[in-house]
Amino acid sequence: MNTPRIDQNFGSLFGAVRRIALEVAASHAADVDKNARFPIETITALREAGVMSALVPREFGGAGCSMSELAQLCSTLAQACGSSAMVLAMHYSQLACVARHGLQSEYFRGYLRDVVRHQYLLASMTSEVGTFGDTRSSICAVECRDGRFMLDKDATTGSYCEHADAIVVTCRRDPSAAASDQVLVLVRREDFTLKTTTTWDTLGMRGTCSPGFRLVSSGSQEQIVPGAFADSSALTMVPYSHILWSSLWWGIAADAVARAATFVRGQARQAPGSVPPTAQRLAEVSIQLQAMKQNWFSAAQAFDAIGPSPGEQEQLPGIGWALRLNNLKVACSEAAPQIVHRALQIVGILGYKNDSPFSLGRHYRDVLSASLMIANDRINAKSASMLLVFKDVS
Ligand SMILES: Cc1cc2nc3c(=O)[nH]c(=O)nc-3n(C[C@H](O)[C@H](O)[C@H](O)COP(=O)(O)OP(=O)(O)OC[C@H]3O[C@@H](n4cnc5c(N)ncnc54)[C@H](O)[C@@H]3O)c2cc1C
Repeated sequence: MNTPRIDQNFGSLFGAVRRIALEVAASHAADVDKNARFPIETITALREAGVMSALVPREFGGAGCSMSELAQLCSTLAQACGSSAMVLAMHYSQLACVARHGLQSEYFRGYLRDVVRHQYLLASMTSEVGTFGDTRSSICAVECRDGRFMLDKDATTGSYCEHADAIVVTCRRDPSAAASDQVLVLVRREDFTLKTTTTWDTLGMRGTCSPGFRLVSSGSQEQIVPGAFADSSALTMVPYSHILWSSLWWGIAADAVARAATFVRGQARQAPGSVPPTAQRLAEVSIQLQAMKQNWFSAAQAFDAIGPSPGEQEQLPGIGWALRLNNLKVACSEAAPQIVHRALQIVGILGYKNDSPFSLGRHYRDVLSASLMIANDRINAKSASMLLVFKDVS
């Protein structure tokens, strides 16, 4: 990898991601999908452009990008390759936990500088055999002795873990802790061995390479992120995941609509002076696409508007924000497949074919993962409990 530029700002990163999406990600997306392989060309290009450290605060050499800016990076990349955008979004969600909850630790301040210098890629291991999709409970526990930690975990799904420089792992605080008394541990590549336990031959998001893994790790105790995961989850992991995922699902849907629009314009050119009937459907689906964008963009802006003081940050674990983020995730994960489906109805058989420039197969399959990635039923069940006590539903 070439040494990344370190004088970045959002404008330069956005330009780089747009170029990488067009020149790199788009040309490899079909092969990544067909062979369920990691999008190595795209991630290498993102590293060389310094995109991996976009959210690292400026005082540590990063670009200090806001949530709205990160969401624009993810949605832009998603228009070319959904798997690449999902890798970037998951990386940002994990890095944000380190950047927002590790600053009191000299170890993590140094790690953030290293992320800028080496453009590390961080993966996530929240899922576990036996806890199903509940990220807020763990069976595995970190054990500490003589300044070292030991942590083993049997994860059901671990995206791009084999390609990551570090994995951020949820676990119980110690072997006597309750299932929900969790911490995050930053496990670096040199600290772990991985044994693949399941396959990743899926309908979509094939390039995320997310089979099950058995993790065996040990390292310095300093690598345990300060504070409880209950806080880093509510303040950071959930907002970053739900907003960035929503932005990238929108990106996939937006590319599907763009393909449909190109198709409709081609029809219009064949019959000058008349508006093809498919243009009416295009107008209708563009309403849904715009509403979806408003949903994630306004949530990102509202998140950015929350100040850094403890008093302002206290809003985030509140029921109002939890419901807003749950609603955002469920709404966008339901809207994306509907929009791609409507684009397919416009394009017809050329969208159904895999070898046509209007093909929508990959888009369709990729967005079907959205409602499963933390099951919507699980999220709605939590919202239902909150709504029993939360009166301000406006
Ligand atoms: C593309 C992709 C990438 C992923 N990457 C990672 C990763 O990097 N790291 C990681 O740790 N995990 C990852 N995951 C896993 C993900 O985060 C979830 O843990 C996993 O998808 C949930 O699996 P599940 O459907 O078996 O679990 P569950 O949530 O247990 O759902 C199983 C079934 O139970 C239903 N259900 C659950 N709760 C309720 C309820 N309260 N009421 C009614 N029905 C309910 C669901 O609707 C579903 O039908 C990834 C998943 C995907 C799709």
